[in-house]
Amino acid sequence: MFFYGIDRKNTTKKEAPLVKPDFWKNSKNYYDLKSYWRNLFGCNVHKLAIDAGFTCPNRDGHVATGGCIYCDGRGSKLRQKGNLPLVAEQIASGKKYYKPQASKFIAYFQTFTNTYAPMGKLRKIFDEALSQEDIIGLSIGTRPDCLDPDVIELLGEYAKKYHIWVELGLQSVHDKTLQFINRGHNFQQFLDAVNSLAGHGLNICVHIIIGLPGESNEDVLTTARTLAALPLQGIKIHSLLALEGTALGEIYKKGSVCMITKEKYVSLAADVLEILPPEMVIQRLTADGYRDIFLAPDWTMNKLDVLNSINKELERRNSYQGKNYGITP
Ligand code: SF4
Repeated sequence: MFFYGIDRKNTTKKEAPLVKPDFWKNSKNYYDLKSYWRNLFGCNVHKLAIDAGFTCPNRDGHVATGGCIYCDGRGSKLRQKGNLPLVAEQIASGKKYYKPQASKFIAYFQTFTNTYAPMGKLRKIFDEALSQEDIIGLSIGTRPDCLDPDVIELLGEYAKKYHIWVELGLQSVHDKTLQFINRGHNFQQFLDAVNSLAGHGLNICVHIIIGLPGESNEDVLTTARTLAALPLQGIKIHSLLALEGTALGEIYKKGSVCMITKEKYVSLAADVLEILPPEMVIQRLTADGYRDIFLAPDWTMNKLDVLNSINKELERRNSYQGKNYGITP
């Protein structure tokens, strides 16, 4: 069962803000991650992507095989090169690279499912990351069906001292879509995970995709409205990418699926932002794919242009994140 009474600051009245909120302290029409961290910590913070060698139950047969239809299954560039460096080494080289731009860092366990391992291994890896200088927290990418109570307890312990995010892949609230893209879990499992994570001092970030096969505009907006009503602190919004070596890539090459246009993505992303609560942190609005296996859509490769286009669209509408929050259409 899901409990809707979980605290989320300033959202109990379910009212849209009348103007762009002052607390963002940014020049954008949405609350981006960089601004959120600068407001929270008073300095620039950067997420350092780490590949700690995890696998995924949706690829190894534990839940399913083959993985999500858009997943290339190659892991990080580091993994493709051979033996993975230690977590501490990955953090050290990331810090060296990003130090001019940031003074504090979040260790971002990004590759595959980063809670899919025995407890002892998880504790060792996360402890190693948190013991590095200038690391102020963790961001842990995982699946809704990979959060056992002891893992949540461990993350809750860390949250007493550090800034901890749990990033949950979901992509859509519609089970028909989750089945089609072979997620290996349904929407209720996502709700159960959110409910289990609540009350442990953790920040939850959900990932969604715009442009999934078979989804109408209204389906996307329903996903946004549903998530807007949940106790989530952040969101990553991506466009769907077709990559070589994936099931989706094969369908795309056969001409059986159309990829979303830039105009439609920008318009829908703006619609989604208008629906989300103003305090929900927008962690991403673009997708990432390796250039050597990239198939489509081409426009996604220019990420800056996509970001600017979404902000311009909100400006054109004289609108901003949260303008339609809590408003029933
Ligand atoms: S859950 Fe993530 S890692 Fe696993 S198959 Fe899907 S996209 Fe790939």
